[in-house]
Amino acid sequence: MLEQQYEKMGISREVFRQGEEILEGLKSRFAQIDQVAEFNQLKVLGAMQENRVSEACLLGTTGYGYNDVGRDTLEQVYASVFGTEDALVRAQITCGTHALALALFSNLRPGDELLSPVGKPYDTLEEVIGIRQGKGSLREYGITYRQVDLLPNGDFDYEEIKKAVGDKTKMVTIQRSKGYQTRPTLSVTRIGELIRFIKAIKPEVICMVDNCYGEFVETIEPSQVGADLVVGSLIKNPGGGLAPIGGYLAGSRACIEQAAYRLTSPGLGKEVGASLGVLGSFYQGLFLAPTVTAGALKGAIFAANLFERAGFKVVPDSQESRHDIIQAVTLGSPEGVKAFCRGIQMAAPVDSYVTPEAWDMPGYDSQVIMAAGAFVSGSSIELSADGPIRSPYTAYFQGGLTWQHAKLGILTAYQQVKNAGLI
Ligand SMILES: *Cc1c(COP(=O)(O)O)cnc(C)c1O
Repeated sequence: MLEQQYEKMGISREVFRQGEEILEGLKSRFAQIDQVAEFNQLKVLGAMQENRVSEACLLGTTGYGYNDVGRDTLEQVYASVFGTEDALVRAQITCGTHALALALFSNLRPGDELLSPVGKPYDTLEEVIGIRQGKGSLREYGITYRQVDLLPNGDFDYEEIKKAVGDKTKMVTIQRSKGYQTRPTLSVTRIGELIRFIKAIKPEVICMVDNCYGEFVETIEPSQVGADLVVGSLIKNPGGGLAPIGGYLAGSRACIEQAAYRLTSPGLGKEVGASLGVLGSFYQGLFLAPTVTAGALKGAIFAANLFERAGFKVVPDSQESRHDIIQAVTLGSPEGVKAFCRGIQMAAPVDSYVTPEAWDMPGYDSQVIMAAGAFVSGSSIELSADGPIRSPYTAYFQGGLTWQHAKLGILTAYQQVKNAGLI
């Protein structure tokens, strides 16, 4: 029955059976993922109960947004979930980059230095920091930047980090996910080790973690191992696919206060910022986030195993432990990347009939192809894939609001790569 249903969706019996065989071997890993989701579901529910979320919290305010009980309570819920003193969770934070820029600009002052001890940060942060020329960068405000790369084996370069922490070092930025790099994603435990090392040199330094794509993958978050600030996007993991916009910062009272005065205005801080009509989706999305993240994680592991067995290089590989939801599959040819993305698009609930094409995206030195058929535009907790059309021809994919959709997407991508004669 199931086989026939997949056949109707364009998956051959052979591909379906290969998928089932792979899944047979993944039972214990999937069970582990379900356990993490169960733990995190209780964590989120506990936070909602402890902070007395009520029906009134789901409504919203307009105008200045004074006394927005739903907004204020949600920020307390986030603080409970992340184990922090306070949080800022707002629709006025437009995306992950904005949330990170807000954290940096609000806690740094001219003459301060920012240090990244884990190598180059995410592409969009280059213009925020001023690594690449950008208007209004930290650099323009006289805030300097220093970077220590990871060692070739992926370890922290403790010796160089020790040298890099100086009088001017005010803040450290640690990116949890590998993003579109080849380095390993950092586990929360490793982030904790790094923070302990840095704080031993200079206790007052502010340690910020770019938590994008990492939320709810483990049972603890970086804020529970010493991070002063964790930052992320609501159209990734913590929005559970329902949040239509937004970003969050969770951390110490002092850091959040700085961010609030920067987001709105000195003197106003957290007191203003109407939630409009989005609070219901913020709450419900957070409620769903642990299981949505689990589904995305299963998809990533399934893809790694399926494509690795067909001879492709996958990062993380089929066996590695996971600390974010991103999966890289190196197809080895432009046709491979295009076929992979075509498959992801074909399996989407929205825009399934369109064919993604590679295009000259601003800021990239080669053409990029993207597949997304999402309910929320650009949402990458929904099943999505993209890849630069350059050697070694790697497609990066992530998300899936349900494991069943992720599975169909991956099987369709596999089928397309196979139909192109590449398997
Ligand atoms: C997605 C992402 C960002 C930026 O988020 P946007 O919402 O795309 O602006 C920053 N850092 C990492 C690691 C990310 O994955």
